[in-house]
Order: sequence, then C-alpha cells, then structure tokens
Amino acid sequence: MYKKLGDDSHFSDKNIFIYFGINQTMKNPDSILSKNTLDKDDIIALLELDEKDSLKLFAKATEVKSKSVGKITYFRGLIEFSNHCSKNCLYCGIRAGNEHTHRYELDDESILYAAQFAYDRNYASIVLQSGEISSTRFIDRIDNLIKKIKELSDNKLGITLSVGEQSYETYKRWFDSGGHRYLLRVESSTPELYNRIHPQNAHHSFDVRMEALQNLKKIGYQTGTGVMIGLPWQTTEHLANDLLFFREFDVDMVGMGPFIEHSETPLYEYRNTLLPLKQRLHLAFKMIAILRIIMPDINIAAATALQAIDPMGREKAIRYGANVIMPNITPTTNRKNYQLYENKPCIDEGADDCVSCLEKRIEMAGDSIGYGKWGDSRHFYERMKNAGIFTSEAE
Ligand code: SF4
Repeated sequence: MYKKLGDDSHFSDKNIFIYFGINQTMKNPDSILSKNTLDKDDIIALLELDEKDSLKLFAKATEVKSKSVGKITYFRGLIEFSNHCSKNCLYCGIRAGNEHTHRYELDDESILYAAQFAYDRNYASIVLQSGEISSTRFIDRIDNLIKKIKELSDNKLGITLSVGEQSYETYKRWFDSGGHRYLLRVESSTPELYNRIHPQNAHHSFDVRMEALQNLKKIGYQTGTGVMIGLPWQTTEHLANDLLFFREFDVDMVGMGPFIEHSETPLYEYRNTLLPLKQRLHLAFKMIAILRIIMPDINIAAATALQAIDPMGREKAIRYGANVIMPNITPTTNRKNYQLYENKPCIDEGADDCVSCLEKRIEMAGDSIGYGKWGDSRHFYERMKNAGIFTSEAE
C-alpha cells in the first residue's frame, strides 16, 4: 500500500508527486532491530520511522559500527581534476549539455601537488574524480598519473578512482598501475527509475552500468557504488531495493546522499514534487544507518551533499554509521566549477581550513581519524579470503 504525498489534481506526467510507501501494520522498531537479518518489509518500516523512533535506529547503527569497523574515520583527499563529461545525466550540473558551466581540467602538476599535499598530511589515500571521458588521451593520462602518484608517495598513497564507465581493459590497466578502489554510483538500482533520470540512449544504459560494476569486482578492485535519496518518482520501496541491491551485489564501499536539484538540469522541472530538503536529509541518515546494520563491515562514505543541507551533516552521518570522509583538496580556484548540485559546501575554503574544522567535528562525533592508514574495506578482505585469494587483513 502506498500513500501519495500531495494533491491528486497535480498528478500528471509532468508533475508527479513522490510516492512513499506506508507500512500500514507498522512494526515496532525494537523488534525489527533485534533481528539477525532484515527483509524488505523490515527495511521499509525502518525507512518510514519518524524522527523520534529513528533515534533507536541510529543508536543501533552506532553500536554496530563500533563493534565492526571501530570508531575511526578515514580520510580520502578528493581531487576533482576535471568537469568535462561526455554524458548528459538529467540531474547533474556538469552534464555535457549544460552550456553555462565553465569547464576546467587541472594540469598534471596541480594534481600531483594535491596528491603530495594529502601524502604530507598523512591522509594515506586520495580519490581522483572527474566527469566521464573515454578518449585514449584521457585513459593514458590517468594511467600515467596513477604511476606518478605511486612514485611520489613511495607506493604508500592509496588511490581510489571515480571516473565513470570504462572498458574492462581500461579498468584492468589502471588496476595494474596501482588504482585499487573504484567508485561508480548506480544512482538507482531500479531500472525504471534509472531510465527516468538518464537520457534514453545506449550511452546511458542501466545494463552497461551494471556490467561495469561487475567488471570492477572481477578485476579485483574494492568496488563502491551508491544512490541518490529523494529523487523525483522515488518510493521507499525503491530505496529498500537499493539497500538490498548493495547486499546482494556484495559491495565493498557505498557513498550516498540526498538528491539536491540543480537549476540548470532537466530534473529541476520536478522540484515541486520533491520532499523538503530536511526530510531528504533525514531519509539519507536512515539509509546510512540501515546499511551499516545490514552490511556491518563495509566502508560507508559521508557524502558532501549531506553537508550542503546541514553544516554538520557529514559528522551526523559518521555518528550514524559512516566511516569515510573525503576532504576536498582540489585547488580552490577550480572548486566552484565542479558543482553536480548547487550550494555545494567548502568551495571557497583552502584545503587546510577544511581539514582543521573537520578534525574537530569528527572528534565531536565520537571518532578518531585514521591518519596514515588506508582504512580499506574489511568486507573486501573477507570477500577475498572467502574466495581463497587473500590471507591478509585490512590495513
Ligand atoms: S553524473 Fe557523472 S556521468 Fe553523469 S553527467 Fe554528471 S559527471 Fe557526467
């Protein structure tokens, strides 16, 4: 049974109100949270908890996090090195069709400088992120940068890549050069919803996205994905399916946050159908907490979009189950141009300013910072051990 939020007279193809499932026989959260395995109905019931009852969910997630991955937050220095993109995702501010975005691409020297910054400050890991480009020049360049970053850090800096769908051969080449984690968000694991938020063509295919994720796993990357929370047309059942997808796909890392509409994108047309931002944020916290409970040993990133709604959004996510934060170490002058959504935080701050405020806030959230440690996904090592590939533990 689903309840539609909004007035019936507005329900048309152009103005569709979000449907959120209402579990008419709402179960007691205590009885759900005491179960060993949560099914879809349990997850839907938890997603529909009000603010008061969700405190029980958050407390349980805090407890599970402490027992499984410890009260440690790991840093990944985020380098958004280019906002050129060949794709046209309907929600994204840097989509190829947005002519108002000032395009930039950092030169190698600036990227290596940022990597050195992360290494010198003992972050232990960086993320190289950009729009999706698949030219030979781009592929060669990433390969070269991975090798140079490994060289400058005496092989010590961990490298996460987040540069979209690429061929199996490209993923393998970058893996062999030293990339060992890869983030490729699925945005929604429901094909119908995925298709509504992407153009209908072969360049934006749900099946290709799934195949790319499978390839990353097959090659041996710690594989990360994620979804947006509060999309137009999204229901609690969609979100429950997303969480079940993470579990079934056996992901190692997840980064997910609230959908924030961007005025220069086609989805902006549906802004009046969305949940208020604060409710999207609350739903995102519940998603993180449930995920920590159903997948205790994965890495969960506190996405920057959480902070765009609440200045303490990432730190609250840390308290509710997340264990990774990606301080933005992109040179400040380029940061304002990498806006997948609007009002993105920290775009005027230097990398140092960001870190000193983050340190204090993470301590306030009850965690210490895992300086000097890769903080790899424990789930990944268990997965590899079970497959007879590794015998060592996560560092
Ligand atoms: S979401 Fe990613 S792939 Fe899609 S347009 Fe934005 S940067 Fe490009």
